[in-house]
Amino acid sequence: MKHSYILKNTVFKKISPGQKIALFLDYDGTLVPIQKDPSRCVLPGEMKEELNSLADSNRCYLTILSGRSLPDIKGMVGIRNICYGGNHGLVISGSDMTYVHPGALPAKPYIDKAARMLSKEIAGIEGAWIERKRFTASLHYRSVRKGDVLSVKKAFCKVISEFSGGKRLAVIKGKMVLELAPDLSWNKGSAALWILNNLKGKYLPVYVGDDWTDETAFRALNKKGITIRVGKSAKTTANYYLKNQREVSEFLKRVKEFIV
Ligand SMILES: [Mg+2]
Repeated sequence: MKHSYILKNTVFKKISPGQKIALFLDYDGTLVPIQKDPSRCVLPGEMKEELNSLADSNRCYLTILSGRSLPDIKGMVGIRNICYGGNHGLVISGSDMTYVHPGALPAKPYIDKAARMLSKEIAGIEGAWIERKRFTASLHYRSVRKGDVLSVKKAFCKVISEFSGGKRLAVIKGKMVLELAPDLSWNKGSAALWILNNLKGKYLPVYVGDDWTDETAFRALNKKGITIRVGKSAKTTANYYLKNQREVSEFLKRVKEFIV
C-alpha cells in the first residue's frame, strides 16, 4: 500500500487532462468519524462544501455508497443531484439511474423476522441494539461491555443458523457491527461497477472507503482506477491510504483542482 499521497503526488499522475472521474465515497468512517450513535455522524460543513463543488463539476459523477438505508444516507449528506447507494448498494438512486436488487424485496420478510428474533435474544445485554435499515438490519455492540461481546456474537450466530435453504441470510461484518443481509451475490463492488457501466462516456473510478465492506469495491476497481482506504491496514487490497477524515478532505480539494 502506497503512502498517503497528499504528501506524494503519484496518485494524481493517474488523472489525465480532461479526464472525467466517477468518485465513490463511503460515509461512516470515511467522510465522518464513527460514533456510538450513527444518527450523530453529522457531515461537517467544510466537507459538505467540498462535496457540493465536486457535484457541480460536469467532470465528476459523485456517488455516496453506504451501508445505511437510502433515505438515511440521503438525509445525512443532504446534497441533491448526486448518486446514492443504500444498503451496501442493494438500492441505487442517481440522476438518470435507479436500481433495486431483485432479490432485496423478497428477502425482506426473513430479515424482519430475524431482526425480531435477535431483538429478543439480546434483550438482556446492555448496550446492544438493532438498527433496521429496510433491506438489512444491523446489530451494534460498540457500547457493550467487553465481557458481554461473546454473548452478543453467540446470539447473532444462533439466529442466523435458523435460516437456511431459500431463506438463507448473509452476514456483513463491520466495525463493532454485525449485519443481517439478504444472501445475494451483490456488494459495494458490484454496485460501483453497475454505476460505472451505466455512465455515458469514459470515467476513471476513484473509490474511498474505510471498512471491510469497501474491500469488495477495492477489488473490483483496483485495476480500473484509484482505490483508497481510510486508515492504514496491512490486510487491505486498496492501492493507497489516507490517515483520517482531515486527509480525505485534503484529497477531495486536490481532486477538485484537477477537474474544475
Ligand atoms: Mg465506513
